[in-house]
Amino acid sequence: MAKDDVLSFVDEALDELRDKNLYNEIRVLEGQQGAWVTIDGVEKLNLCSNNYLGLAADEQLKKAAKEGIDEFGVGPGAVRTIAGSMTIHDRLEERLAEFKRREASVVVQSGFNANLAVIPLLVGRGDIIYSDSLNHASIIDGCRLSRAEIKVYPHLDMDALEELMKEDQDRDCNKLAVTDGVFSMDGDLANLPRIAELAETYGCISMVDDAHGEGVLGSHGRGIVDHYDLHGRIDVEMGTLSKAMGCVGGFIAADANLIEFIQQRGRPFLFSSSITPPEAAANLAAVKMLSESDDLVEKLWDNARYFQSGMQDLGFDTGKTQTPITPVMIGDAGESAEFSRRLFDRDIFAQSIGFPTVPRGEARIRVMISAVHSRDDLDFALETFAEIGREMDLI
Ligand SMILES: *Cc1c(COP(=O)(O)O)cnc(C)c1O
Repeated sequence: MAKDDVLSFVDEALDELRDKNLYNEIRVLEGQQGAWVTIDGVEKLNLCSNNYLGLAADEQLKKAAKEGIDEFGVGPGAVRTIAGSMTIHDRLEERLAEFKRREASVVVQSGFNANLAVIPLLVGRGDIIYSDSLNHASIIDGCRLSRAEIKVYPHLDMDALEELMKEDQDRDCNKLAVTDGVFSMDGDLANLPRIAELAETYGCISMVDDAHGEGVLGSHGRGIVDHYDLHGRIDVEMGTLSKAMGCVGGFIAADANLIEFIQQRGRPFLFSSSITPPEAAANLAAVKMLSESDDLVEKLWDNARYFQSGMQDLGFDTGKTQTPITPVMIGDAGESAEFSRRLFDRDIFAQSIGFPTVPRGEARIRVMISAVHSRDDLDFALETFAEIGREMDLI
């Protein structure tokens, strides 16, 4: 192969994505994240962000971030283990641990990195992982990095999980049962009480990825462990600061010795600089705000119930959701994409999700409800969905 051909496969791969309708057209927001966003100079009702509580552009968080810069500067200057640990990181970790009702927590750059940091410390070559078939890509990558044997059970199938655990009963190695708490494409919940029980019976480490549960489920948005009242029964709780918390970052909350171990051996902690001072300060403000009041969490759920029952009354199928994530099931990927285009033309930004993110024939519009949507916003969305649903003979 001639030297100038070595990357020619890239164009072919991109063409193939376009041919198969798998190419992501990335929309660009021309201002801050909120109930409405500006795209191509036009305001659109935003029904697709993970900004559940509206904190991404919250005035208190913005102020905290600016104060964080004034006190600590814009960057950490080094990885945490060398010279990049600041009191603002420590304060955030203490408050997060308190919020999650755990002994300790450790913050890394993102939720994705949190999974990469912790999973390979729990299991390694010769060990076993039990993983839900719909687990998030970052769990899957963390599992692969660990080199443990990965046993995937069908989504939410607790009998299948128990079968697998039974088969391995006599194997003397570390075992990890890991699951998303809220599954992000359907909004359904893991059966965490059953997973806790099975982990106890069969001697497994239990771990939940609470990315879509943080700020959403449980009292004050403490997450899925609080929602099911499982405090003390799930070994490892991982979370993100980029969804309901409105900023960026990821964390693990657990017993103090595991957190200490991550600080000693977690590769994203050791080899990548941490979140910046303004990010840590904004996150700290978010955790304080949630600890003090659950008004925003209540508002989020009110909005979700209002929108979901409105959609069901109109005759739409909102799938299996148990959370503010609202899949509007369309079925055919082409129709779903067309629905999304028509919404966009009428100033509603809600994305269509198709194969391979969801199974073939289960394409949907994924609506993300937020506490910052007003009743008028939600009514506008319901009316527009109804119009397009009738035009396309879907309701
Ligand atoms: C979004 C998400 C992550 C990644 O979080 P980031 O902070 O954006 O890296 C991890 N796990 C799940 C289940 C998620 O939904």
